[in-house]
Amino acid sequence: IEFVSSVTMRGNVMQSEGGVLSEAERRKQSLAAVRESLPVFPFKKELVQAVAQHQVLIVEGETGSGKTTQIPQYLREAGYTKGGIKIGCTQPRRVAAMSVAARVAVEMAVKLGSEVGYSIRFEDCTSERTVIKYMTDGMLLREFLSEPDLASYSVIVIDEAHERTIHTDVLFGLIKDIARFRPDLKVLVASATLDTTKFSLYFDDAPIFRIPGRRFPVDIYYTKAPEADYLDACVVSVLQIHVTQPRGDILVFLTGQEEIEACCEMLQEKSRRLGSKIAELIILPIYANLPSDMQAKIFEPTPPGARKVIIATNIAETSLTIDGIIYVIDPGFCKQKSYNARTGMESLIVTPCSKASANQRAGRAGRVAAGKCFRLYTAWAYKHEMEETTVPEIQRTNLGNVVLLLKSLGINDLIHFDFMDPPPHETLVLALEQLYALGALNHLGELTKMGRRMAEFPLDPMLSKMILASERYKCSEEILTITAMLSVNNAIFYRPKDKVVHADNARINFFLPGGDHIVLLNIYNQAVTAGFFYHTAKLTRSGYRSVKHQQTVHIHPNSSLFEEQHRYIIYHELVFTTKEYMRQVCTHGRDGM
Ligand code: ADP
Ligand code: MG
Repeated sequence: IEFVSSVTMRGNVMQSEGGVLSEAERRKQSLAAVRESLPVFPFKKELVQAVAQHQVLIVEGETGSGKTTQIPQYLREAGYTKGGIKIGCTQPRRVAAMSVAARVAVEMAVKLGSEVGYSIRFEDCTSERTVIKYMTDGMLLREFLSEPDLASYSVIVIDEAHERTIHTDVLFGLIKDIARFRPDLKVLVASATLDTTKFSLYFDDAPIFRIPGRRFPVDIYYTKAPEADYLDACVVSVLQIHVTQPRGDILVFLTGQEEIEACCEMLQEKSRRLGSKIAELIILPIYANLPSDMQAKIFEPTPPGARKVIIATNIAETSLTIDGIIYVIDPGFCKQKSYNARTGMESLIVTPCSKASANQRAGRAGRVAAGKCFRLYTAWAYKHEMEETTVPEIQRTNLGNVVLLLKSLGINDLIHFDFMDPPPHETLVLALEQLYALGALNHLGELTKMGRRMAEFPLDPMLSKMILASERYKCSEEILTITAMLSVNNAIFYRPKDKVVHADNARINFFLPGGDHIVLLNIYNQAVTAGFFYHTAKLTRSGYRSVKHQQTVHIHPNSSLFEEQHRYIIYHELVFTTKEYMRQVCTHGRDGM
């Protein structure tokens, strides 16, 4: 691949003598010395003072400066956990919450789950003794249900605020609200170097504490012409770097598990063929569903003479810091959710990432020494085709869950809720309408008893309704199993590239008449449908049409019902990939009538 050098992202540190070596040296130092070498360390006293002086503080610092791992420890040392009161720190991603908690437990020489713990959906690794608690932003939101004033916390750190997930955005509003009547509560909003003035304005001009990062210059290269196949281009670029460039690890950004696995396999295959002609290349994937022992591998030091290449989702953009990266390969894409309120269609589509993302990615190359970032797109595309920043999730997602939660917290007037960026009006209306249809709200838009019970589940309202309705039909056991199965995002179906036929056969062997929900459980009960009547599709002469929106929809080819025709079917989700696909489909009870 031919690259053209364009600009250099300016650093504030010049290339240090043998920068890469000094990194290896750093690893040999004691943990304490490593902590003291982080950019935040010299500001420890100032930071603690600023927290004492202000109720809300915005903390801005480059990725890797020590915001997430160090600040909660500093505040603990300063006495903010006296008497067992907690410091909570939110993360948009599960992997980050777990990995950061594990790191802090090592630094504090305690067992994970004792003084330091984490809480993510379906997994609570905390105890009575936990005083530093890392959690996903969604989990803290749920804690409002049982503790509306967050009385067991002295400090809340809303970390990775720039990610603007829907949960983080709702937390902003709720925390701003409770801070008014809890003057003792300290709030820190931590973010990479993006958009911090916006946070400050939102929190009534809260001061911004800037941690000067150590940033080495990064040379940015673009391709001469657009790349037709970015996966292939990644593989070629990795090998190109490996054979022509001095040592230093490589970080590649891809959009999801499937792509990452494919890239790893292609790299393994190619480097095996080159054999001893090249130095050892250690190929490591990282994505949300990767088992945690595999995740830990990316933090292990690279053996001398070898080179590590990490193939990551955008989790490595700001949430995780991997030391030793000198080269970044950025195809310029990410997977993005979007939502069409008129059709109720949620799509997950690979789209060009924003300029802000591209620059964060490039920045990963300049943490330990001067680095290089290879963008697999043209300079023209960067300038003309990429958005400045990513649209906040709240403006492109289904709001059912969040609306139910806010209603349960007594927030009735959602139109005037203090959102940093409000969601589209019609998305809000659709969510209200659906909650009404499910019986969670009455005709005045007030929460019903059913609605309150539904809010207790960390699930989509349709699933919650299904569980509650199962009580009446005496099939809660089965329904709970089905719900659990549906909640793992197909993670139960493992389909390695070299065993595709085996995997598909294994899956087909589970098939039973009745459809995918039954396949998941091997049991079918007509009450499955109580929460999903919204997701009914009817067979017409021109194929399936959704009953609610009268829209043409298709059964996903992976479904056991793909080759069958039924008058009515119910689907778990509608996803747009290449077509409007219904996934997890089962026949409707009325079918036989
Ligand atoms: P920030 O939140 O400012 O991006 P972090 O507190 O996450 O920074 O990371 C600070 C440093 O801690 C990193 O540069 C890295 O050296 C180290 N670190 C963080 N997480 C881990 C981990 N899981 N394993 C090893 N080192 C880690
Ligand atoms: Mg962080």
